[in-house]
Amino acid sequence: MKIGVLALQGDFQEHCSVLQELGVEPREVRLPAQLRGLSGLIIPGGESTTLGKLATTYGLLDPLRVVSRSIPVWGTCAGLVFMAKNVGIDQSVLGIMDMVVQRNAFGRQVDSFEEDLEIKGIEGGPFHGIFIRAPVITEIGQGVNVLCRLGDGRIVAVRQDRLLATSFHPELTGDYRLHKYFLQLADADEQIQGSPGI
Ligand code: GLN
Repeated sequence: MKIGVLALQGDFQEHCSVLQELGVEPREVRLPAQLRGLSGLIIPGGESTTLGKLATTYGLLDPLRVVSRSIPVWGTCAGLVFMAKNVGIDQSVLGIMDMVVQRNAFGRQVDSFEEDLEIKGIEGGPFHGIFIRAPVITEIGQGVNVLCRLGDGRIVAVRQDRLLATSFHPELTGDYRLHKYFLQLADADEQIQGSPGI
């Protein structure tokens, strides 16, 4: 199984390391052709405006939209912002998840925080959430399921069919349960479709 990690910007290396730990060979994706034959794609955290600009420059926006219709895609933090339909301001996004996102919802870098989370579908106790200038999801469409809310009720993880998005950074925790969850999605999807990717 080949899992791509969008490697334009941000902490893609950390995701690649987790995948390697789990015995999956990651493929760094910088060009449209590198999307071919993938079973899943991770869009890492970083800075969503930069991600949008670079994806535009590299001609990746439409190929990413197309691929997201046929393989599981998981966005973390800036990756979540990049997947949303509506981020409240004018920036290049994929617009593939039916949700409204508020960027930097907790304030600036110094307002980063950690909180133990209960996540639907993740067994074995709380998941340690690391939030770094994180977004929250303020509205969701009909096909979007909430996987996790903060103690105050704000939504920080969702799934829309084969698309997954988390506000926090599982790749920085040493807890691989969400990566395993995503790999199961990719694997199950491949079984159903018979062949990976486009
Ligand atoms: N604040 C960033 C954005 O809106 C996301 C930060 C992150 O990915 N840690 O793009």
